[in-house]
Amino acid sequence: MTMKSLTNVCKIGDELALAFSDGSEMYLGLAMMRRSCPCAVCQGEPDAMGRVRRPIVEHGPGAFELKRFELVGGYGLQLFWADGHSTGIYSMAYLDQLDRLARN
Ligand SMILES: [Zn+2]
Repeated sequence: MTMKSLTNVCKIGDELALAFSDGSEMYLGLAMMRRSCPCAVCQGEPDAMGRVRRPIVEHGPGAFELKRFELVGGYGLQLFWADGHSTGIYSMAYLDQLDRLARN
């Protein structure tokens, strides 16, 4: 399997339009992306026993408003939200996963 990369990212309304090197595209809702933020603060970290306890995340004002985004080394997408949160880096594999969820 060849690794695809992001070629274009564009914010359209409350969605993010993503274009990939293999010609595929996806549209992901910003609120869904924020709720699925892959960072440790949002998803939790495994404890000493390897159990992941998912934290309760509060989404304050601006949480679903995307200020800007940055491509991280061609393999990931970092999103900067208006409430200051920016630690989540969405890998290609994770974006694929979100896309599949969004289509179901
Ligand atoms: Zn997060």
